[in-house]
Amino acid sequence: MTENKEQTEETLFRDLGLNPEIQQAIDEIGFEKPSPIQAEAIPELLNGHDVIGQAQTGTGKTAAFGLPMLQYLDPGNDEVQAVVLTPTRELCIQVTQALRSYAEHLDIEIVAVFGGAPIRSQQAQLRSGAHVVVATVGRMKDLISRRSLVLTAARFVVLDEADEMLDLGFLEDVEKILRMCPSGRQTALFSATMPPPIKRLADTFMYDPVVISITPKTLTVDAIEQAFVEVSGREKVEKLVKVVKAEDPEQAILFCRTKIGASRLEKDLKNRGLDVKALHGDLSQGVRDGVMLAFKNHRCKLLVATDIAARGLDVDHVTHVINYDIPNSSETYVHRIGRTGRAGRTGRAITFVTPDQRRDLEQIKADVKASISEWETPEDRIEHARPPRRKRRGQEAAPLDEQPTVAVEKVGEFDEVVEVPLASDPDQQQESVPEVADGEVKLFVNRGARSGITEEDLRWALREGAVLSEDQVADVRVLDRFSFVEVDGDIAERTVEFLDGTRLKGSGIRVEIARN
Ligand code: ADP
Ligand code: MG
Repeated sequence: MTENKEQTEETLFRDLGLNPEIQQAIDEIGFEKPSPIQAEAIPELLNGHDVIGQAQTGTGKTAAFGLPMLQYLDPGNDEVQAVVLTPTRELCIQVTQALRSYAEHLDIEIVAVFGGAPIRSQQAQLRSGAHVVVATVGRMKDLISRRSLVLTAARFVVLDEADEMLDLGFLEDVEKILRMCPSGRQTALFSATMPPPIKRLADTFMYDPVVISITPKTLTVDAIEQAFVEVSGREKVEKLVKVVKAEDPEQAILFCRTKIGASRLEKDLKNRGLDVKALHGDLSQGVRDGVMLAFKNHRCKLLVATDIAARGLDVDHVTHVINYDIPNSSETYVHRIGRTGRAGRTGRAITFVTPDQRRDLEQIKADVKASISEWETPEDRIEHARPPRRKRRGQEAAPLDEQPTVAVEKVGEFDEVVEVPLASDPDQQQESVPEVADGEVKLFVNRGARSGITEEDLRWALREGAVLSEDQVADVRVLDRFSFVEVDGDIAERTVEFLDGTRLKGSGIRVEIARN
């Protein structure tokens, strides 16, 4: 792999070798100069190189691959010449909109295909001609298997937000899709982080890629005042209301770990009269679009969101990020709080921890090398701000690639995240993912103690609902919000089939094979 050169500060878009039509669109959109990732990636991609681009959210990665991709396309050729794979519907739509604006003066058709929307209209759009297909992984697979989409002419392939695809368990499908693309293709991979499986994917599927890694000079966390609030689980909502009132944010994102938690919090806050909307994977496409638009247009102050639903989304002017649930890794922490403090503004990030999560907070502090002090009301802060804040000096946040990647076990179809113990040595973290006994398959159940589910209930469901004998069930573990069961591999799928979508103790349960 070739390392990237020092970036030059003075690069202008017109130095990059883009067509006049593309340049005109850029001028009209109002981009003055390329962002660092654009300045580096665009010439390499125009030269036909494979590129791995690592840069944080909000650094302009879409144009970094989008502009050279558009330049590469031949409007006279009706085949699908380029595909962009995205992890979520939101990103798929967002990327499509961005690409269409860049293609304003080109005769290029860009079609978005994603789940949660009628497949027929997407098939019709593909039939009437698409030069570029922007897709979520699942829907693309589906369309390929229905022969509505052929990739034999897709010589430009982009994996956008690759780490997110990994987190969602899509990597295998991504590989399948890559295998269907011509081997002489050009591949670009963009990601905020580069966990080992992504590197391996790049090694296997990319040809001598140029690696461009942009480490922010001031990593977002530097411009962000960070605090924590320690509170018991039961008092969390009340405390949150108090914090929100005291902070009086212009706009805030409140992060929850699960979609169930997010929708519950939305209700709780609405009941207390707050102006809040939620964004998570259980909402319909239309609702999510509406929520995003409302938040972007400042028609709503507070957005409750899960990591997956919010990440990669482009929202400015967020004054506060509140981690209502502590993030599952230091990387997620950086991503979350990076939603504020943008464009030179200062932002505030407040993390809620229950007493038993103090250890996790300490780990985050150590990883991001930030001072995260106990939250005080804004008035108290002003009082205390008088003496010089020495501790803030010289605190340099670690570049992203130096931050330990934390092993996170991703389960569930969309954004249920389960924590695994943090090991401080990144190499050991792979090992620290809980092992499953040979021949056993771990299933994820989206309910736990909080829904009144006990181990006995689950064993009952396995016995009565899935007709399993005692010795086919290796382990049942009930956590607060979810549970895991380990069953013999050969009956795992049947168990899912029998139990998924049924009710247990009055709650609808979802059962899935947990992915690593
Ligand atoms: P990423 O994919 O890295 O998260 P996006 O491509 O979504 O970032 O871009 C983030 C925001 O920055 C978008 O609103 C986009 O329009 C804007 N943007 C991109 N490139 C530039 C540029 N060169 N100058 C100004 N704004 C830009
Ligand atoms: Mg992006």
